[in-house]
Amino acid sequence: MDSKDNLIRLNDKNLLTPNNPIIPVIYGDGIGPEITQCAIEVINAAVLKSYHKVKKVSWLKLPAGEEAEKKYGDRFPKITERSLLKYRFMLKGPLETPVGKGFRSINVHIRLLLDLYANIRPVKYINGLDSPLKDPKKVDMVIFRENTDDLYTGIEWRYDSKDAAAVRKFLNYKMNVSISGDSGIGIKPMSMEKTKRIARLAIKYAIANRRKVITIMHKGNIMKFTEGAFREWAYQVAIEEFRKYIVTEEEVNQKYNGRLPDGKILVNDRIADNMFQQIITRPGSYDLILAPNLNGDYISDAAGALIGNIGVLGGANIGDFGGVFEAVHGTAKKYAGKDVANPMGIIKAGELLLTHIGWDDAAGVISRSVNKMIKERKVTNDIAKFMKVKPLGTKEFTENLLDIIGK
Ligand code: NAP
Repeated sequence: MDSKDNLIRLNDKNLLTPNNPIIPVIYGDGIGPEITQCAIEVINAAVLKSYHKVKKVSWLKLPAGEEAEKKYGDRFPKITERSLLKYRFMLKGPLETPVGKGFRSINVHIRLLLDLYANIRPVKYINGLDSPLKDPKKVDMVIFRENTDDLYTGIEWRYDSKDAAAVRKFLNYKMNVSISGDSGIGIKPMSMEKTKRIARLAIKYAIANRRKVITIMHKGNIMKFTEGAFREWAYQVAIEEFRKYIVTEEEVNQKYNGRLPDGKILVNDRIADNMFQQIITRPGSYDLILAPNLNGDYISDAAGALIGNIGVLGGANIGDFGGVFEAVHGTAKKYAGKDVANPMGIIKAGELLLTHIGWDDAAGVISRSVNKMIKERKVTNDIAKFMKVKPLGTKEFTENLLDIIGK
């Protein structure tokens, strides 16, 4: 088959997935290779079970991270970049990013390369998981995190660099602010267009998936022209473009006696720090959270803890044409090569990938099978230690899951 026939295409805003798409995969660093291999086996099994041999993914392994550094002297070689631009969709293991020094995040680079502006992280309690909450069944939220703006653009200068000195000079003399001479500088850009496009995507998702509440998360009381503007622009999209679907909290209180009219989605906003306590004290109030990049990163790990562990969460990075699907957690290096890591996060990312390309039946097989594993208390050590059951190794977990899928 010509490789053009294996491309996922975009036709008038709809994805067209061939029966045998080529989908790149980066195995990643640390525990990445082990867990990514599990996810591939599980996805293949779910696709086979759902479509027999009519549909099948052809995986294209791309070099990146530590492995690519050794082979190509580059953690994100050109060959990987070219393939990604061609195929547009990818399953990805976690990649390392050093703290405070060294190379810039490849994860951020990939998101910017394909303009994957929405990081979507569903957090839903799975029956049987050990949660710190009294009533974890109330946890069913999806986080829409802006992915291309805010502090993650990485515009910053070391305190002792010439550039930092030049920026400080400009700010101190031209802008009349006072920044001490030993300060590193970072820039926090928040764009109207970037905020509006993720707000649009989140609201469309809420409508399509029957979500009831959209909460705009921000720290606009302090950062008025960045986070405050995020709040304002998100409301603008909701009110100007989705009027017949939404009502704001203010309208509910003023026009509807505090009761949400049937069939409408409530749009409200909350200050970020408040939300960290409220997702714990009243998780049932949160449904879809729309957040700028940094807040979204923090709140998704906190939300993951509500259902027991971030090791079980998968995420999707989506753009208008492209997607990278990965676990929410990182490389957990201390567990690398030990056959103890939990592969559920990247398996759930595989489920999101299948849903995104329209292979819902296969996605459903993964979802039901993972739920069954947890119900039967077949889990890896990170979860087993709380459930007080004997842990399965990474491979054993996968074999058990494959057995369930095969039945
Ligand atoms: P992390 O790798 O997620 O690990 C933090 C802790 O979470 C681990 O020590 C372990 O906890 C637990 N954990 C995470 N995933 C697990 C799994 N699959 N199975 C079992 N336990 C798991 O976070 P980090 O230490 O902050 O980051 C390490 C590196 O990963 C950094 O270089 C960071 O930049 C990178 N990272 C990459 C991505 C990505 O590629 N998208 C995302 C996040 C972080 P216990 O110690 O409690 O056992």
